[in-house]
Amino acid sequence: MSLLEEAIQVAAEFEYPAEELNKGVEAFISQMHSGLQETGTTLSQIPTYVTAVPNGTEKGLYLAVDLGGTNFRVCSIQLHGNTTFSLTQSKVAIPRELMVAKTSRELFGFLAKQIENFLKTHHDEHYQAHLERRNSMNSHVALADAEMFQLGFTFSFPVNQIGINRGTLLRWTKGFDINDTVGKDVCKLLQAEIDALHLPIHVAALVNDTVGTLMARSYTSPGKTGTLLGAIFGTGTNGAYVEKLSKITKLESMKGSDYNKSTGEMIVNTEWGSFDNHMTVLPDTPYDSDLDKESVNPGIQMFEKRVSGMFLGEILRRAMLALTQNPKSKLFSDEQSGKNELHSTTNIAEDSALYKQWGLDTAFLSIVAADSTPDLRVIRQTLARDLGVDAASTEDAEAVKLLVNAIGKRSARLSAVAMAAIVIATGNHVSGGGGEDDVVDIGVDGSLVEFYPGFEGMIREAFREVPEIGEAGEKRIRIGIAKDGSGVGAALIALVAAQAE
Ligand code: ADP
Repeated sequence: MSLLEEAIQVAAEFEYPAEELNKGVEAFISQMHSGLQETGTTLSQIPTYVTAVPNGTEKGLYLAVDLGGTNFRVCSIQLHGNTTFSLTQSKVAIPRELMVAKTSRELFGFLAKQIENFLKTHHDEHYQAHLERRNSMNSHVALADAEMFQLGFTFSFPVNQIGINRGTLLRWTKGFDINDTVGKDVCKLLQAEIDALHLPIHVAALVNDTVGTLMARSYTSPGKTGTLLGAIFGTGTNGAYVEKLSKITKLESMKGSDYNKSTGEMIVNTEWGSFDNHMTVLPDTPYDSDLDKESVNPGIQMFEKRVSGMFLGEILRRAMLALTQNPKSKLFSDEQSGKNELHSTTNIAEDSALYKQWGLDTAFLSIVAADSTPDLRVIRQTLARDLGVDAASTEDAEAVKLLVNAIGKRSARLSAVAMAAIVIATGNHVSGGGGEDDVVDIGVDGSLVEFYPGFEGMIREAFREVPEIGEAGEKRIRIGIAKDGSGVGAALIALVAAQAE
């Protein structure tokens, strides 16, 4: 068998035909419904307590902070009310000793101090005016709401959220370990430290980054209709969408939950990375199952492990490795010197990233997919640079491109499964009668969807293969990048939260 024939065979293992795709959509819709009714399902369908999306006319100055892992970001966002905004940002690294401090106050006091510094640097006028007014009152009289900054708090750790600005920490991750914080309301902890510094700030919302993407897109997207779905395709993948309150039946049984019911809607965070963890409909290859077995969390995030940036490079590495390990294989081998030997000579450096788990970044797939030079020069250069493959042939490059295209296409088609299912489950596949506003708006973010060539095109192709959507439905779906989603999104959630109070 020629090298290309071998590569075609491996690539075929990643095929995800229309019939399977439609089974995926059906299963996704069914798992969405289960998740709205009860807890402990594959799709967590977490209520976010955000009950409205913006339409681009919102105005004002808002604050947003983001505690994600290594850094703490503070920003202010001026919403101009015409779908545009300006953003001012600062970033500080969290000192290691604070990540493992004895008391919550040490960490949250540090965060409040950063916010104070930010206010003094970027909004000193507002801050000084506030100080003067407070001094003239000669007491700690509560300020009028109009004078307070509303702040959205993006906190990327597991929390049990029970209100728009109420959520208790379940456990720390990513190297943080402060026992004292577990079980406490992180918004209250931050508010207490802000109050101790007498800052004119109200912690109005606890924010999930996917919800931020949806909100940011809804503000900036043109037209009257709000955005239906915000989706992230970066290191991980997740989506949040607008659901009818009446369908989130598990809310009734959630102890102590508190929310505004006036819009009849709430944004639901699907946590779709764990769609079909039981593997009833997800496609599977030996490369996927080995990746999973050797991961830190086998059996978990099974959808994400086939879709997102953290994993596509590793899937490709395993597929390429399988080709090189076949004794008769010709990938990256030198046929001249290998002619009379049982094994042909390999051209792969001994310390190549091809032999290292997680050795290959998904950015590599984007480079390969983009190369359309006649002799695939860019791929051959990148193979040398990233994988230490000496003098790769055009045929080697073609073989790698076949694998990349297959893995990238499957990822896009799986992404389409999640998006199509949400469009259908919310009834948005039914045309609103035409016209400019008859669109279904989706906001996306993340390096994969932003940089992988043709990712949106492949998603659209898959949409057309879903009978409920078809060609006409696909045309109504508008997909747009939500830039700076986390900051603006958090600000908008703070705004919506403050309005609902
Ligand atoms: P995050 O999701 O962590 O906020 P990103 O959206 O930048 O950040 O996603 C990072 C992920 O995207 C990494 O897993 C990386 O491998 C992948 N990635 C980075 N650059 C590219 C690219 N050019 N094409 C495809 N994937 C990329």
